Amino acid sequence: MQTGAQLPNYIGGQWRPAATSEHLAVVNPATAETLAQVPLSGGADVALAAEAAAAAFPEWRRTPPEERVQYLFQLKRLLEEHWEEIARLLTVENGKTLAESRGEVRRAIENVEVACGIPTLMQGYSLEDAARGIDETLIRQPLGVVAAITPFNFPVMIPLWFLPYALACGNTFILKPSEKVPLAIARVFQLLERLKLPPGVVNLGHGAKAAVDALLDHPAVRALSFVGSSPVAGYVYSRAAASGKRVQCQGGAKNYAVILPDADPETTAPMVSESAFGCAGQRCLAVAVAVTVGEAQRWFPEAIRAAASSIKVGYGLDEGVAMGPVITPQSKARIEALIGQGASEGATLLLDGRGAEIPGYPQGNFVNPTLLDDLPPRSALMTTEIFGPVLSLMHAPTLEAALEILKQCPYGNAASIFTGSGAAARKFRHEVPAGNVGINVGVAAPMAFFPFSGWKGSFLGALHAQGRDAVEFYTEKKVVIERWPK
Ligand code: NAD
Repeated sequence: MQTGAQLPNYIGGQWRPAATSEHLAVVNPATAETLAQVPLSGGADVALAAEAAAAAFPEWRRTPPEERVQYLFQLKRLLEEHWEEIARLLTVENGKTLAESRGEVRRAIENVEVACGIPTLMQGYSLEDAARGIDETLIRQPLGVVAAITPFNFPVMIPLWFLPYALACGNTFILKPSEKVPLAIARVFQLLERLKLPPGVVNLGHGAKAAVDALLDHPAVRALSFVGSSPVAGYVYSRAAASGKRVQCQGGAKNYAVILPDADPETTAPMVSESAFGCAGQRCLAVAVAVTVGEAQRWFPEAIRAAASSIKVGYGLDEGVAMGPVITPQSKARIEALIGQGASEGATLLLDGRGAEIPGYPQGNFVNPTLLDDLPPRSALMTTEIFGPVLSLMHAPTLEAALEILKQCPYGNAASIFTGSGAAARKFRHEVPAGNVGINVGVAAPMAFFPFSGWKGSFLGALHAQGRDAVEFYTEKKVVIERWPK
């Protein structure tokens, strides 16, 4: 990829320059180097993509599922072959470490693997003699043109929460990736091009709000998947629903972990630390608040301080680095301001990551791991998504009191408990108002064959990404009631 090169869109089986002259710089968050210029496509580009996808649909839906998944088997092979190269690109544009990027590409590939099961997953069901002389059959049919709008923090995995299932089910697809990180997914589309799919089956339109608005309003787009912050999720959900589209929106998060006194003292702090500070805290499943219960307050703050302060921060391509920068200078400024707010609201700074200086990378958006102890119960930080390497600590006398704290959170993406007690874990699992639950697991990330199940302010819609939910989302059910008189 040439420095400063203008990225083309991929529409109707061709790479073509966007109609817009507006571009945005794509910047390496560790080095501040400009990597490319991404077009801010608008209505004309989205219309081209929607028309190409609509034209490709009739033939693609008639292509047998068994033939459709052959393309995905090839895609898996190509992704495996180019795994390392894509992972490096991911680190360069997003900032996460190479190990984290490799893990992300692995998770992306798993979704391709699951979608290869469509000939089984997409089956309907039938009943002979549903009524006297009448047979009834449920079949699933694709919707048509579907689109996905994705965030900066998982530039390859999140688009692949949608693309493989949409295609396998017989839909044609438009992706509008994050304008901050368009490079690794553009590389994936170069691999998709090699599959020789019929033109228009997959389309890539770069851009930001104007492209999203055009997708929301285009009549050919039947369904939309969105992943990003909650305010934008709410906007996309209501505008898409107003025009009758099927829509699923995964929003922001504020995830809690509860540490009971009988949690394993060896493994708990490292797992919470990895969850809070991995990907520089820019995971929607990151633990943001750890609530110690009773005696756990005696050992956990010191254990997590030791784990957090041992993290080597730097450029994700460099050896031994365990945490990279945050995505933009604006993110860094926002995170540092929220750390200041936590301290001014009464929390104690056990570790202050502001003003990080990383040798060799003076321009990088680095924030060191930060720990705010004794966050007051009325602090705005209890419910504000920071989306950076900041972990707040709270303390509760009992599991019941800890659960009451969690129930006040407007988000419900994930929650974890660390304990040696099956009864406590069962109570937590039963009562916690979150959709992805970890039991002695710090990052409660469902595998591709399970839905990514955010709740409350973290999700709008009914069917989630991945697994069987994806098949439900991307198909329409039709019930055929048959009688054949003699
Ligand atoms: P974002 O909301 O800023 O952007 C997401 C997408 O929406 C991008 O493609 C962007 O171009 C587009 N967009 C941004 N502003 C828009 C507007 N005003 N109108 C229309 N479209 C707009 O999110 P981000 O900063 O890229 O990603 C971080 C957020 O995503 C965090 O809140 C994080 O919790 C969330 N996230 C959630 C999940 C989940 O599964 N729930 C997963 C990953 C990230």
